[in-house]
Amino acid sequence: MSATAPTAADESRVLGSVPTDLLIGADWSPSSSGATFDVRDPATGAVLATIADATPEDGIRALDAAVAASEQWAATAPRVRSDLLRAAFDRVRERAEDLALLMTLEMGKPLAESRGEVAYGGEFLRWFSEEAVRISGRYGINPEGTGRTIVSQHPVGPSFFITPWNFPLAMATRKIAPALAAGCTVVVKPAELTPLTTLALGSIFREVGLPDGVLNIVTTTDSKGVSSPIIADPRLRKLSFTGSTPVGVTLMKQAADNVLRTSMELGGNAPFLVFEDADLDAAVAGAMLAKFRNIGEACTAANRFLVHESIADEFTRRITDAVSELPVGRGTEDGVRIGPLINESAVAKADELVRDAVERGATVRTGGSPIDGDGTFYAPTVVSGVQQGSDILRTEIFGPVVSIVTFADEDEAVRIANDTEFGLVSYAFTRDLARGQRLIERLRTGMMGLNVGVISNASAPFGGVKQSGVGREGGFEGIHEYLDTKYTMTPNPFA
Ligand code: ADP
Repeated sequence: MSATAPTAADESRVLGSVPTDLLIGADWSPSSSGATFDVRDPATGAVLATIADATPEDGIRALDAAVAASEQWAATAPRVRSDLLRAAFDRVRERAEDLALLMTLEMGKPLAESRGEVAYGGEFLRWFSEEAVRISGRYGINPEGTGRTIVSQHPVGPSFFITPWNFPLAMATRKIAPALAAGCTVVVKPAELTPLTTLALGSIFREVGLPDGVLNIVTTTDSKGVSSPIIADPRLRKLSFTGSTPVGVTLMKQAADNVLRTSMELGGNAPFLVFEDADLDAAVAGAMLAKFRNIGEACTAANRFLVHESIADEFTRRITDAVSELPVGRGTEDGVRIGPLINESAVAKADELVRDAVERGATVRTGGSPIDGDGTFYAPTVVSGVQQGSDILRTEIFGPVVSIVTFADEDEAVRIANDTEFGLVSYAFTRDLARGQRLIERLRTGMMGLNVGVISNASAPFGGVKQSGVGREGGFEGIHEYLDTKYTMTPNPFA
């Protein structure tokens, strides 16, 4: 398929190649109840595929398969694990166009962004194929000189992943790749709204010869019913979740009963600070990326634009011009920048937040309402003069809405930025190097974009502080989420 707009025939071919069953052990199998559910295109409401709806028993069967494969996979040579991940990376790259189209169909994002996600998501397979062969330890002499310590790393064991709908490929590879590299077997439960990409990834791993049971996939509409028994099973050793903070809190409580290792990538409320000394062209370009990438449906999306009062009018004018020109439509259409939101409730939420801001004194500069017709579209929006206390400053918008507040000085900007229970990412635009360095120390977030609007990269340790989560995905740190540290004390061999 070329990089031009896909045809209906391309769509059918891509959809026709996706497995519709559960991947458990060696087999793709239907749900034990025979139940299925529909996956829909958010741009049209049309059914894209009908897939297996797993029961709690299917979830436990998947864990059985992961447990059965665990010892052998942990003992597999790192180079073999590395080569399998690399082979999967190569297939993802070869099938980039098909995977991109599949993601656009089930999630709605513009095709250009889906291509970007295939590149980004695929990189985790390559990065961790490289990390698989670099797991190391250390040898030391205790201070007394009486003993020797050997520190070694071991796979944590069977792992369970619950992934969200907004980045269907990257959220799966960001967990699967480090786990497999470390020698862990996994069960993945993708989001019920966008499970097809994970199924396609499963079929790639089967093609490259991943041993049976190393990767198992259960799709279900009963997330809680299927997940809870897996999390409660003492054979499970690790839970990794990406999604909303309330669900993350529930899962951490469940995980506590089993003292599971957990990684949690939860909600954000990213501040985007524009100082009076910023390069305004760069700030507006960065703001457009930080806000409108993925239709605003990203936990890293800029949620609150904090702009110095001396440049607020100019920034607002420029970003309003840019936002009012964003082409909206089905993600498969040429030139579209803003696709549909994932469902009706996402549209209703964005709309309520904008209405609340306006009732409390904000001004709509462009957009400000849902778009009538098929699909779940919300107009790209700018609201300025947003007052403290407005819900939009406390809630993750997850939609194409720019919300602007002003500040008088750096202290006030930092105070507002940190005034949230979340701490995922912050963005700041300034030409002042010392200010930039101060902000690194002052902004309470796990990640920061300093004069850039996109921060995600497979080589970087993605993750939040405060209620945005625990743990890191990607970078050198990512594999350690799947390794347990052990030390062994031995005597002084010369004594
Ligand atoms: P989002 O707002 O991104 O949909 P959620 O936290 O609701 O975030 O969903 C993220 C993932 O968590 C999805 O795979 C969803 O099916 C799953 N999920 C939601 N609720 C539960 C639950 N109680 N137990 C297990 N998984 C859940």
